[in-house]
Amino acid sequence: MSEEPCQCPDCQRFYREHDRLIRENPSLRQQQELNWAALQSFRTLAGRVLEELQKQYGDSETTVPAPAEPTNADTADEPDAMQQAMADLENINAHLFSIEALMERIFDVRVPEEVEQKFREVAGELAPDPLNADRLRLNRLLHQTPDLPDHRP
Ligand SMILES: [Zn+2]
Repeated sequence: MSEEPCQCPDCQRFYREHDRLIRENPSLRQQQELNWAALQSFRTLAGRVLEELQKQYGDSETTVPAPAEPTNADTADEPDAMQQAMADLENINAHLFSIEALMERIFDVRVPEEVEQKFREVAGELAPDPLNADRLRLNRLLHQTPDLPDHRP
């Protein structure tokens, strides 16, 4: 008895993206490059946004928001929300930095062409079709969900 994967729009978008990343990056080398680029772009963008917010609203470490007093909510909420957002972004950046250190070990690995060929074979089996049409069709029948917008070229 196998559990059917969730078919909500978010999950379906995830399945398609997941399969696309396998299909378009079917070797170890390509997965390494893809994930390194994804990590670095995430760090660059989140880091720059944090810098901009700190310039605009002050550093979240130095300006600890005072305990909330029962004042006008419209003026009181936004600075707190921004301080919280900056603290969240700082956490994200710290985690991304740790992930980068871990990933460097993954990216040092090189494998023989034979193994890369095995990657390509398995990738072809896992993600053979651009929209994984068979799976989507089957799930559509099983769940009688409305047709998805079809982006097939
Ligand atoms: Zn879902």
